[in-house]
Amino acid sequence: MELPFAESYKIKMVETIRRSTRQEREKWLKEAYYNLFNLRSEYVYIDLLTDSGTGAMSDKQWAEMMIGDESYAGASSYLKMKAVIKELFGFNDFLPTHQGRAAENVLFSLLVKAGDIIPGNSHFDTTKGHIEFRHAHAVDCTIDEAFHPTLYHPFKGNLDLNKLEEVLKSNPIEKIPFIVVTLTCNTSGGQPVSMENLKAVYEMAKKYGTLVIFDSARFAENAYFIKTREPGYGDKTIKEIVKEMYTYADVMTMSSKKDAIVNMGGFIGFGDRKMYEEASVYNIMFEGFVTYGGMSGRDMNALTQGLLESTEFDYLQTRIKQVEYLGEKLKQYGVPLLEPIGGHAVFLDAKSFLPAIPKEQYIAQTLAVEIYLEGGVRAVEIGTLLADRDPDTRENRYPAMELVRLAIPRRVYTNSHMDYIAATVANVFERRNQITKGLKILREAPIMRHFTVELDRV
Ligand SMILES: *Cc1c(COP(=O)(O)O)cnc(C)c1O
Repeated sequence: MELPFAESYKIKMVETIRRSTRQEREKWLKEAYYNLFNLRSEYVYIDLLTDSGTGAMSDKQWAEMMIGDESYAGASSYLKMKAVIKELFGFNDFLPTHQGRAAENVLFSLLVKAGDIIPGNSHFDTTKGHIEFRHAHAVDCTIDEAFHPTLYHPFKGNLDLNKLEEVLKSNPIEKIPFIVVTLTCNTSGGQPVSMENLKAVYEMAKKYGTLVIFDSARFAENAYFIKTREPGYGDKTIKEIVKEMYTYADVMTMSSKKDAIVNMGGFIGFGDRKMYEEASVYNIMFEGFVTYGGMSGRDMNALTQGLLESTEFDYLQTRIKQVEYLGEKLKQYGVPLLEPIGGHAVFLDAKSFLPAIPKEQYIAQTLAVEIYLEGGVRAVEIGTLLADRDPDTRENRYPAMELVRLAIPRRVYTNSHMDYIAATVANVFERRNQITKGLKILREAPIMRHFTVELDRV
């Protein structure tokens, strides 16, 4: 018989998690104002809020923690990280930051001015936040296929080159400091960008005279999809693919809480020495000196080891196959979801799941609340709450898709947990016709409201 697929690691340390009763969860939800960010983690049985900073480090990463160099300047940990960034991405210079949004803050302080226009593929929420905070505008140029939940396209994160060229042509180029390409594209469902598209975007940027930034949180998962889906890449290693991807970027921002498999950390990688020097000023102001910038030596060591591990094919295959396992199980139960299944998460199509809820009542958040109530599984809304209000009109922005993201932490849960999650969602699906009322906002913040919003049932 053919041997089945199995994980490429075994477990060395465990953490206890506790199941709760429906009655308890009903009470906790009320106390949390129906915002799952307000729940204590001990009230959650399986936590799929995010794959950010929630991964399990390897024995080798923990070993690296012990030999971190905590020198203020010129630490070996910094030099080790510098060498691996050069090896993987080809960038000579980098600045460490405490997480991804800090990398954005430092880099955008240098590059973004009021009135600027920044095209990209469904900008990540903190990226968009840092653009709009500076009174600049993010323009979404993702391909239309990305907004059809069940349409198959191998690279739904791709930028539409016509849309992009239209933006580049119809605005003065000084107003477009860069194009941002998000790998993989979280906002459109953890969908990858093809090598062909990366190359075309870079060539177009150079034709018009602007820069390309890769928002790189899940660059390794993106490389896995290039290897397994794009003709001509099947025989290349992940590290070879990553190296080629980054020949089409001028600079990168990284949230190391994703594909560097650490709990905290980030960095900016630079191809241009002058830009590195100019950005260093902001790094020193906001983060720390250029050789640690918001991270301790031990954390830089673990991060560096994490980058090497996340660019191993066996690790990526284990990871992405687990996400796929959950998605396939949900499909068997008839649950509507985004296809193809993303790299780090399964995205439920909340509009099809709960057709009776009007969009003004936060469809995806309603579904996330019901899933928690059913089985203590915490997911996250990627819908109207996240889309926030238009900065000019202050009206709600209603996105094309209302999604609930089940983000799978790296190397944390087993496939039995995946079975439990699938059954939880299937039970909500079974009683979907009884869910006819959504939620209303009691209080919200002026920007990135989804983190702190307070809601009540309609
Ligand atoms: C997480 C993430 C960020 C922000 O990083 P933090 O580490 O959470 O600050 C930016 N872009 C993308 C694509 C991300 O996934």
